[in-house]
Amino acid sequence: MRIKIFLAALALAASLPALASTPWQRIAQPIPGAPQAVGSYANGCQIGAQPLPLDSANYQVMRTDQRRFYGQPDLLTFIKRLTAEAHVQGLGNVLIGDMAMPAGGRFSSGHASHQSGLDVDIWLQLPRSRWTEQQLLTPQPIDLVSRDGKSIVKSQWQPQIETLIKMAAQDNDVVRIFINPAIKQQLCLDAGSDREWLHKVRPWFGHRAHMHVRLRCPVGDHNCESQAPPPPGDGCGAELQSWFLPPKPGSGIEKKSSPPPLPALCQSLLDHHVGAL
Ligand SMILES: [Zn+2]
Repeated sequence: MRIKIFLAALALAASLPALASTPWQRIAQPIPGAPQAVGSYANGCQIGAQPLPLDSANYQVMRTDQRRFYGQPDLLTFIKRLTAEAHVQGLGNVLIGDMAMPAGGRFSSGHASHQSGLDVDIWLQLPRSRWTEQQLLTPQPIDLVSRDGKSIVKSQWQPQIETLIKMAAQDNDVVRIFINPAIKQQLCLDAGSDREWLHKVRPWFGHRAHMHVRLRCPVGDHNCESQAPPPPGDGCGAELQSWFLPPKPGSGIEKKSSPPPLPALCQSLLDHHVGAL
């Protein structure tokens, strides 16, 4: 629980408005070269990123003004694969949120990860019709979690949401999906005997209106740092329940540590493309 509080503080710090923009935001175009995810999901960058095509019958991209729709080829392929299947199954309009910036790196606001072109936020609302430009630029999330954080909001829940999460979790390139604990709990209740996919679905702070999908390191990508696989099992037992318990007395907010140094390759890219700051 102590570590959870600490992580909550980090998550909060990451969601606060930044003091200034990060140098990565000044890089407007992908760094040319063979595609590479460099470093870790939460401390890295990317080379040879590609923009997700904005014109698709199977999905729509939100907040394109933030230019966070770049990723490694595997990520683009995954999004196209998932949304094509969602389209075939008639799940609704899939809304794509943050991926990564052209060179990856840290955002000035939002989350700490999404840095190496292998993460994507996909919203857990599947409107029946396509959104207008204005709706895409000022998207309104639907909060799927009750105020006390212990259950989903039944009136907002649709079976298509579960189908979409399950489809993503069953994709071989996906290693983790982060969602709110209350949403994971609902998936646990509804899963029946086919539970293998729940293994990748991880409870996390926030994520009340979207899932965060994370891909494995691309094959042969030697500068990409993998993450240990999730613990075995469907994750529906004690670990999930611990998220609904009150914090233990004495487990206060701990001091935030400063971010780790950038991987050397990312630092040299930054020096080269942005210059000394
Ligand atoms: Zn995310």
